[in-house]
Amino acid sequence: MERLSIFDIYKIGVGPSSSHTLGPWKAANRFALGLVDKPVKSVQVNLYGSLSKTGVGHGTDVAVLLGLQSYKPEIIDTQKIDAYIARIKSEKTLRVAGHFIPFDPKSGIVFEKHSLPYHPNALSFKAEIEGDDPVEETYYSIGGGFITQGREKESLIHLNDLPHPIESGSELIAHTEMLNCSVSEVVLKNEQYLRTQHEIEAGIDQIYQTMLECVYQGCHSEGYLPGGLNVKKRAKAISDRLLGDRKYHNIQSWLDAIGNTPHTFSNINKWISCFALAVNEENASLGRVVTSPTNGAAGVIPAVILYHRCFGEYKSQDDIRRFILTSGEIGCIFKKRATISAAVGGCQAEIGVSSAMAAGALTEIQGGNPEQVLMAAEIAMEHHLGLTCDPIGGLVQIPCIERNTMGAIKAITASNLALESDPKSAIVNFDMVVKTMWDTAQDMHEKYKETAEGGLAFNLPVVLPNC
Ligand code: SF4
Repeated sequence: MERLSIFDIYKIGVGPSSSHTLGPWKAANRFALGLVDKPVKSVQVNLYGSLSKTGVGHGTDVAVLLGLQSYKPEIIDTQKIDAYIARIKSEKTLRVAGHFIPFDPKSGIVFEKHSLPYHPNALSFKAEIEGDDPVEETYYSIGGGFITQGREKESLIHLNDLPHPIESGSELIAHTEMLNCSVSEVVLKNEQYLRTQHEIEAGIDQIYQTMLECVYQGCHSEGYLPGGLNVKKRAKAISDRLLGDRKYHNIQSWLDAIGNTPHTFSNINKWISCFALAVNEENASLGRVVTSPTNGAAGVIPAVILYHRCFGEYKSQDDIRRFILTSGEIGCIFKKRATISAAVGGCQAEIGVSSAMAAGALTEIQGGNPEQVLMAAEIAMEHHLGLTCDPIGGLVQIPCIERNTMGAIKAITASNLALESDPKSAIVNFDMVVKTMWDTAQDMHEKYKETAEGGLAFNLPVVLPNC
């Protein structure tokens, strides 16, 4: 059984895709680390399956180049990424393990037509070494920024190490009953086994701060998204219009100003959409986002948190911490029992999971009991079942950006429904919907799994240049 932390689900990274950008980036980091002290002559990268089909649109080529140069997605200055890539292309050299080697991205990154059997997101690296055998490694990006080399034991740490091992919704509920506590309290007890209370709080606060900065940045950026689709950014215009002449001087006073706008359904609804748009416009611009549980779906959680912060009964930072703990555990269960990879399960695995995470967490901080928390998560996922992944041009823009607004709204609706319901009379339970999502993922046609060969991507075909 797999032991996951909420910090495996929430990761600070760079857009636009956790499986196609963050995962390959980390794979390239790991490969480059293995080359330290070796006289590297050349490097070649091969992308397979979905990484090849939608890799350019998802920034996979950019990610592997930055990863091979040992830049870290958590701390890289995102404003300099374009310049770093421009240098590689113009000088045709790559700095790997401290040495500059000749490298032309056009020939050094090979987009293979086929997939490797283990997982649709595969990439391999080969380095020629002066006077020694070449070094070759294959990695699989299995969603949400997780990578594996297919050696199962490396990623499976014993779940039973934890004081309250959780692999399903029913197990989670059993722990809350045994301890007579909330979902977030059980999750916190497991996290305390892995790190100190201070580390947990600091880690969650950093996740929240990164989300805030991302929303703020997105609401203050104009222009068009990169990639060639000519998609105009909308968050700033919406934010400016809704704020009117209200003044602010930092993120906190900006949030306070938003909270002072009318609390009508229409206004709140527009702000929720605006928050989600802001994150995903940043994501599409290779900005810094929090994977939650993926980059493509990174706007749902911040939108719902800020809905609560600006328009709900927000009390303190403790609300945010309980939200992240609860939602993180729901994401962990989907990762263990189904998938959070669109290349395996379509968009139900991204937006569907993020919506379920947000719905459950919002229910907890709105006073729902553990059964209502899972009921909300169940409702949110139930109404994303079958959602396909069909990004136009392979870019994480259309339908992805707007889809986050829908995920956020569904999460809030699901939470309110659950709060008004008796979970004991529910016909469908959380574990049933997780299983159904997984069954649906396996039945879903390949073309709807992040290949840009089905759905909107098929009806609006766009050919974008390689690298
Ligand atoms: S359609 Fe959904 S799963 Fe596919 S790239 Fe967009 S957000 Fe991700």
